[in-house]
Amino acid sequence: MSDHQPTIFDKILAGEIPSYKVYEDDHVFAFLDIGPLSDGHTLVIPKERKAQLHQLSDESAAAIGGALPRICRAVMRATGATAYNVLQNNGSAAHQVVMHVHFHIIPKLGGEGLGIGWHARKLDDSAARELVEKMRQALEA
Ligand code: AMP
Repeated sequence: MSDHQPTIFDKILAGEIPSYKVYEDDHVFAFLDIGPLSDGHTLVIPKERKAQLHQLSDESAAAIGGALPRICRAVMRATGATAYNVLQNNGSAAHQVVMHVHFHIIPKLGGEGLGIGWHARKLDDSAARELVEKMRQALEA
């Protein structure tokens, strides 16, 4: 049983509402974002109905990982962009609005594209050692 709450992307995948389709295969679907930050702003989603990236199956993750660079190339060719951001939000605190995994491909075209607030801190050595130890253990669990 899935705990996935229905989203508007289910309706797009089912063809119940229209989308500007860019790409489709057995596991992946890509379409233009309806509120683009720049021309060519594209969303790439798995057909698997999961809200956040860490919930994806390996099969779905591999498929989307394989398709993303190809779709990025197409977006660049179509728009002439030489720079772009790939953005993937997880959780409403991280600005996720549609609770179905999606990758934004956002061309940087002149002043248009993704604006980023990047408030970097200095990495503390003891905190870093503790964190990587916890992460390595989590990866083995
Ligand atoms: P996020 O904040 O990462 O959840 O982004 C969700 C994105 O989905 C936004 O950029 C919306 O503009 C986009 N979006 C919502 N509904 C649609 C739709 N029907 N067709 C295309 N894009 C959509």
